[in-house]
Amino acid sequence: MSTQFGTSRCGQCSEPIDEPIITPTAARKPCARCGSISRNFALGINSTIELRSSLKSIARPTVGKWFHKQFQGARLQASGLWADVIDVYDRRGNRRRERVVLETGEVIRDVDHPLTDHKGHGSDKGPRTPGT
Ligand SMILES: [Zn+2]
Repeated sequence: MSTQFGTSRCGQCSEPIDEPIITPTAARKPCARCGSISRNFALGINSTIELRSSLKSIARPTVGKWFHKQFQGARLQASGLWADVIDVYDRRGNRRRERVVLETGEVIRDVDHPLTDHKGHGSDKGPRTPGT
């Protein structure tokens, strides 16, 4: 965030006043044109906001368990860094895909193999989702 101060002007007649805008009221010189000590000045503030997004989906048949779960997008890591994540569990296509790329560009996980081979990783059951 940055702040920019504009010029100070008389609050009564808008005459430019050569005086810092932080000058206390008691220390202000009267306006050369009208004698007022009221002031009018501009203050600009610039700020930047970063937006991140993600999408999570679960596909289910009318009856039965899910057959496709997916998370894609930004995820905050325990390290405090943001990562671009693709996390897919595809039962019908028998595919497990996970790729995690930190905001630094470092790839910390890149997995693509049959879902039936995905065992013993502690996340075999897929993303934690209530009711599944
Ligand atoms: Zn004035």
